[in-house]
Amino acid sequence: MSLRPTIDFLLHDWLQVESLRERERFADHSRETFDAVLDTCERIAREKYAPFNRLVDTEEPQFDGERVILPQATHEACKAYADSGMLSAAQDYDIGGMQLPYTVEAAANAFFAMASVSIGSGMLTTGNANLLMAHGTDLQKQVFALNEFNGRFSGTMCLSEPQAGSSLSDVATRAVPDGADFERDPLGPRYRLRGNKMWISSGEHELTENIVHLVLAKIPDENGQLVPGVKGISLFIVPKKLVDTEGQLTGERNDVALAGLNHKCGWRGTTNTLLNFGEGKYPVRGNSGAIGYLVGNPGQGLQCMFHMMNEARIGVGMAATMLGLAGYYASLDYAKNRPQGRPVSAAGKNSASPQVRIIEHADIKRMLLAQKSYSEGALALALYCARLVDEQHTGEADPANQARLLLEVLTPIVKSFPSEWCLEANSLAIQIHGGYGYTRDFPVEQYWRDNRLNMIHEGTHGIQAMDLLGRKVLMEEGAGLKLLAARMQATIAKASPEWQAEARQLGEALQQVGAATQAAWQGAQPAQALANAVPYLQAFGHTVIAWIWLDVAQQAQGEAPTAVGRRAAARYFFRYELPKIGAWLQVVSRRDSTCADVPEDAF
Ligand SMILES: Cc1cc2nc3c(=O)[nH]c(=O)nc-3n(C[C@H](O)[C@H](O)[C@H](O)COP(=O)(O)OP(=O)(O)OC[C@H]3O[C@@H](n4cnc5c(N)ncnc54)[C@H](O)[C@@H]3O)c2cc1C
Repeated sequence: MSLRPTIDFLLHDWLQVESLRERERFADHSRETFDAVLDTCERIAREKYAPFNRLVDTEEPQFDGERVILPQATHEACKAYADSGMLSAAQDYDIGGMQLPYTVEAAANAFFAMASVSIGSGMLTTGNANLLMAHGTDLQKQVFALNEFNGRFSGTMCLSEPQAGSSLSDVATRAVPDGADFERDPLGPRYRLRGNKMWISSGEHELTENIVHLVLAKIPDENGQLVPGVKGISLFIVPKKLVDTEGQLTGERNDVALAGLNHKCGWRGTTNTLLNFGEGKYPVRGNSGAIGYLVGNPGQGLQCMFHMMNEARIGVGMAATMLGLAGYYASLDYAKNRPQGRPVSAAGKNSASPQVRIIEHADIKRMLLAQKSYSEGALALALYCARLVDEQHTGEADPANQARLLLEVLTPIVKSFPSEWCLEANSLAIQIHGGYGYTRDFPVEQYWRDNRLNMIHEGTHGIQAMDLLGRKVLMEEGAGLKLLAARMQATIAKASPEWQAEARQLGEALQQVGAATQAAWQGAQPAQALANAVPYLQAFGHTVIAWIWLDVAQQAQGEAPTAVGRRAAARYFFRYELPKIGAWLQVVSRRDSTCADVPEDAF
């Protein structure tokens, strides 16, 4: 079983990604160039990532007091990735990019996520550099972003603090102007930062010449007070080692110190750090305080960060999806080879008869179909959203605006559906392995541990749910939700005779989601409406994936095993999964307050 035929089917048969060649930006591309990128990534993932996935799990990053030590395999994998040009794949030709559509870039990166999610494919570095391309000055782009795209430097995102995770308005890192000439630094207004950043992925390592931290911090007002709320947050470039205007290291270490490594449940190939900024461990130019250069305007830090949220969240969803698929393939292989039990039939009662392979049991097939329907459905949604990103960036004004609106509503789903349900897929993959799945001799327990992160970072499940019900379905007078409903209706209208029952079922689900959205907000205070935001997110996500499966199933024709499999997964999703939304939406619609009302001391 290989991922490639599924990716090719979704990209070409379903999304018709080649039609993007009609756009000027992608005119030089062809099916051949897209295939060449996928071939290269598939090969590097197979040779440099997959063989070391267990190694990076067992040989966790170590700190010897000076340096963070990672396995040699991680260095080689990251070098191979940078050498492939994938870090700048989407960038313009004149800065060394390939002008590759994001849809193809996202599909190509899927191979790395499946082979070894925690060695990683530079998602933070490209996200960091993309943000600077959107909000940085020309020199900031030249010095920092371009050196991230070429692999010399890597990037981080420093938002979280020990006391400020979901609630970023409570960020306490301070940034004060550095000297009287602070505004005249060619790299941007220069500040000194002091504070602690928690959970920073890839915050310290020796994989690249330098690390470009993008840090959220507050500039105190004239009384030295931090401005409350998100409006007070600004964004700074804080390089680990200072650089000149040519991007060369000056030999000065910035005052950013590793306080410690976090020892994680999974995803252990990536360092995760607590960083101290400006505590004087590395005084710079005679003073404590980490030097940082302002990006954009003061007070607009979070807005700048949000610029790259859609792609970051598609990336997280894609990582969760690939782990789901990795477990599916592993458990499918196991189920085809493990003899255990006999058929539920007269012949099966004879214990002298040979055992069957477990894939012959209906319950094992159920668990395989569940994994397939979650993971391939999530992959299709991620690629659909990636195609919307291309539309938003390169389409005509009207379709580009529609893509923007759809992305607003779908982003919480593309992140959260795979985080929850592809994790469940990993649990089912363990179940199929029986006791062996619970040991470290098989890969599935690691997939589950790696995947458990995805409901936590990039906005927890609960925060995504509140974003969906509290903001996204309401914004611009419900325009995003209406547009999504219209897209679903179009799929329902063109469903073939064979899929009429599912089309009707999707129509009813859509109606239920719409009614629950209204009922949740009818005369309610936000606290009442949002008390059941997670069940709402679950119902919304299942409805979206049902829609995706109905559309995909229309393309899965004929009797080839892949087509039969896709239709079976689609039917499974409609018959076993979609009916669950009734229970989830009931509590939303009646604003059930069982959870909200229970007093603390009753627990
Ligand atoms: C491995 C790993 C890598 C990470 N990488 C990075 C990184 O590179 N950069 C970075 O900046 N951060 C990173 N993070 C931090 C991550 O984004 C945070 O962990 C996350 O935002 C949650 O913050 P918290 O851990 O402080 O939990 P909290 O915010 O304390 O949340 C705890 C629980 O309370 C719930 N909760 C919180 N507020 C509310 C509310 N208002 N209503 C209802 N429920 C609520 C949450 O949903 C959650 O279930 C990483 C985290 C991990 C574990």
